[in-house]
Amino acid sequence: MPLYDFTCAQCGARFEKRLPFSGNSDDVICPQGHRAVRRIYAPPQVVFKGNGWYSTDHRKPGSSPGAETRE
Ligand SMILES: [Zn+2]
Repeated sequence: MPLYDFTCAQCGARFEKRLPFSGNSDDVICPQGHRAVRRIYAPPQVVFKGNGWYSTDHRKPGSSPGAETRE
């Protein structure tokens, strides 16, 4: 099962949870018991560095061909 990042809108906690592909994030509860959680969509291979983040960064440290994670 894929691991997703969540953040709690109530206490600001950030945590990870495994959900099935068909999983419903509505069932996810903050470790503190809050229900106001939001899923964070953050593909790990994309790094935003501000202006020009894409210009010269063609190399991918630690990645190997065919090992990309796609959903
Ligand atoms: Zn919380």
